Amino acid sequence: MILACGSYPVTVPIPGLDSKIVADARDVLTGKVELVGPVVILGAGYVGMETADYLLAKGIAVTVLEMQQFPPVGKLTAHGYWLHKRIKDAGGRLIFGAQVLDIEAGDVRYRQEDTERVERAALIVTAMGAKSDNSLEDVLKDLAIPYRTVGDAKSPRRILEAIHEGHRAGEEL
Ligand SMILES: Cc1cc2nc3c(=O)[nH]c(=O)nc-3n(C[C@H](O)[C@H](O)[C@H](O)COP(=O)(O)OP(=O)(O)OC[C@H]3O[C@@H](n4cnc5c(N)ncnc54)[C@H](O)[C@@H]3O)c2cc1C
Repeated sequence: MILACGSYPVTVPIPGLDSKIVADARDVLTGKVELVGPVVILGAGYVGMETADYLLAKGIAVTVLEMQQFPPVGKLTAHGYWLHKRIKDAGGRLIFGAQVLDIEAGDVRYRQEDTERVERAALIVTAMGAKSDNSLEDVLKDLAIPYRTVGDAKSPRRILEAIHEGHRAGEEL
């Protein structure tokens, strides 16, 4: 068996994250969510940055809040350089060192250094990372079925790794 079930988005337990105006970035990018601004995106990894770029290109105001002090997406790759440039040129705001505390009635409260601040949002988008969906591994172990786990199911990364590992698993059968 080759397990290639991918990954699913994860969030952290922030009070108010179950609000109706909170949506996952994957649902935003696949058109499942009505787009209204201003948008606050939680997380400035590739998914958060690309979602910001997508929304800004539609003329929607975007602020990205990122807990880390420095951009998780560096500017030294072509992809990272263009994402930062496009977001800046479109008027998007990237705020680093921003730890989100809670969400209440469209107010996203966060702490930056020693100061608490509030960002107003009509839509809040979560882009806080992904976790491997490898839950079937336990079943396969119990049934003693030989298996290989590939792609995001092994560890959430990118398309090239998934293709490479899937190809190798097929070759080695
Ligand atoms: C918003 C976003 C943007 C991205 N942009 C890029 C990018 O620009 N470049 C890049 O390289 N990577 C990008 N990635 C990462 C990339 O999408 C993944 O690394 C890649 O898709 C992993 O491939 P995979 O085949 O392992 O998993 P997936 O592509 O996730 O495929 C897993 C499939 O398994 C199915 N599945 C799950 N459970 C079961 C089950 N029990 N039975 C049957 N089927 C099941 C799922 O429905 C899914 O179709 C992005 C990811 C996201 C979320």
